[in-house]
Amino acid sequence: MLSIAMLCGVLTIAPSGGAGLDGVATASDPHEIQSCELLFLDPPDERGAVVTWLWPDGLIFYQFDSGVSTLNRYRMRAAMDTMEAVSGVHFIPRASESSYLNIGSFGGNYTYAGQIGGSQTLSIYNWDQHYIICHELMHAMGRYHQQSRTDRNTYITVNYNNIYSDCHGQYDIYSSSYYTAYDFDSLMHYGQWDCSTGNQTMTCKPGYEEHQNQMGQRSHLSVSDIDTVEIMYPFLLADVRVMYVTLGSEELEAGEGTSIFSVIKNDGDGAGIDLEVDVRLSDDDVITPADQLIHEENAGYIYADDFYYLNGSVTIPAGTADGTWYLGVTATVVDDQDATNGVIVVEIQIGDPQPCSGDADGDGVIGVDDMLATIGAWGACSGCPEDANGDGLVGVDDVLIILSGWGPC
Ligand SMILES: [Zn+2]
Repeated sequence: MLSIAMLCGVLTIAPSGGAGLDGVATASDPHEIQSCELLFLDPPDERGAVVTWLWPDGLIFYQFDSGVSTLNRYRMRAAMDTMEAVSGVHFIPRASESSYLNIGSFGGNYTYAGQIGGSQTLSIYNWDQHYIICHELMHAMGRYHQQSRTDRNTYITVNYNNIYSDCHGQYDIYSSSYYTAYDFDSLMHYGQWDCSTGNQTMTCKPGYEEHQNQMGQRSHLSVSDIDTVEIMYPFLLADVRVMYVTLGSEELEAGEGTSIFSVIKNDGDGAGIDLEVDVRLSDDDVITPADQLIHEENAGYIYADDFYYLNGSVTIPAGTADGTWYLGVTATVVDDQDATNGVIVVEIQIGDPQPCSGDADGDGVIGVDDMLATIGAWGACSGCPEDANGDGLVGVDDVLIILSGWGPC
């Protein structure tokens, strides 16, 4: 029988205003901590429109909570390596990415399924259980429990009377995608004693009895686990990928330099490549060859699956206007007919942030006070704060700027 500490949960997004993480158990109740947490909704409902269920390009960014020991960080990295070996997913230490896993020991094994946007908790209790960590990582990659499949009632009977009531949600059925035949051997299947109040929580249907003790294994990835994650995150045949970019500072002055560090990988189709790397400055977040080149280097020959590290500095050209700009690191294969580019774009701020046009009183909010001040200053007014568009005249145009920028700025 699995100990209760072997269990895990998958968090789903609580309806707004509903019980969310607050619903997680307290330290005084080990059952709740180690078993099952939180509410379930149909998966994508509460996700932001721009957040995709699967992590774009298979890039999953993460950071460790400060309380995670060095040993446990190695253990997590080892589990990440296991998942990277069987799929096109990449776990990357977070620089400034907005969607990422926040990994820690928060009292239990649990996380959300798929990308939810922002910081998302991934908690590990059983740090010494490699495949429990893999189980949680597969949740984060977007997988649900096997017993939540829509076809599960063909294979198992869920005995709700034997399941702690706060655990019932872990046995809900979803219409989420799955890709392979029902798999009793999946690392994502609960065991027959998980969440049990004393008797078996799941019983195999007639014809499948041989799998009764197989459910809940935490010793390997099953064949279908491997197939599924590879379908979700195919190995990319693209030759080159800019994995991440970190700048010494993202707030700069024209003429000023900053360090830049970037990791580039030849994801490879088995072939080495000749690689060029350049850094361009753009006024929008789409980098094209027409954008100003501020750094370039010939990375030379990169073996398949090998890395190249851009580790240098870039200088913002003197005379660059203050405002929001974008640095793009582009890696280009120069010797391959099916060459692909990889690019990552980082937003930077040059000089002081643009003043907030229309915020005449400078309080960071465009509102009634600014409107009254503008009306009060109506007419010719050179250089005054009410002259939002700086044309030397306070008038209708300035009122329109106030209206369009209404609110915090
Ligand atoms: Zn789970």
